[in-house]
Amino acid sequence: MIEGLTHLLFPAVCTLCQKPLDNGEEHICAGCFDEFNPFPGALAGSAALKSTVRAHFGEKAVPPAAWSLYPYRSTGKLHEAMHSMKYGGLFPLGEMFGRRLGELLRQGGDPAPFDAIVPVPLHSLKRIERTYNQSEAIARGMAAVLGLPVATKCIERCLYTGSQTGLGMEARRDNMAGAFRPGRERCPARVLLVDDVLTTGATMVVAAEALMAAGAVEVAFATVALTEKE
Ligand SMILES: [Zn+2]
Repeated sequence: MIEGLTHLLFPAVCTLCQKPLDNGEEHICAGCFDEFNPFPGALAGSAALKSTVRAHFGEKAVPPAAWSLYPYRSTGKLHEAMHSMKYGGLFPLGEMFGRRLGELLRQGGDPAPFDAIVPVPLHSLKRIERTYNQSEAIARGMAAVLGLPVATKCIERCLYTGSQTGLGMEARRDNMAGAFRPGRERCPARVLLVDDVLTTGATMVVAAEALMAAGAVEVAFATVALTEKE
């Protein structure tokens, strides 16, 4: 009842185009979603992500399984949505992308037997600055669809890494080396590591190494978006 009234007084509009949302639409309208151009299926996203990691860090760093929803450019509606999620405090957008990613995992592609979902942690100072970790919001959305626990204390970020933007490949890896350490909880064996965007894979590769050091046996990667070579 109250929800109905609120909706009447403040009709929900699309975050990106401000068009009123139809029933069943959440935060982003169907028209804007159409402009995101997802990978044509789970296997295409998996192949693209693995090939990016392989190109930058070699075969050993390639995860045993991977999922990604969208190829990502630094302009356009998807960029706007990801930016609002990360810096604009639009927490529910992360959960919504997470649910879509969870549905992609359910559709198949790589085998998906996991004990827990682990969001790439933010440094505690950065978390205070942004108020929340967008990767954790994505992980919570995935967990709701997949019925898996979210583990946030297996690894922690120990360095306040500056922005990766503008850094070359080698510099990115150096910037990240030693950025994570095992956390307070022992890590479960089969982990699904989650982040918002994968660009070279430096962050996830280094986080996966820390998870293995914390007890993980297998670490798969899932990201909402994958930066395209421009
Ligand atoms: Zn829209």
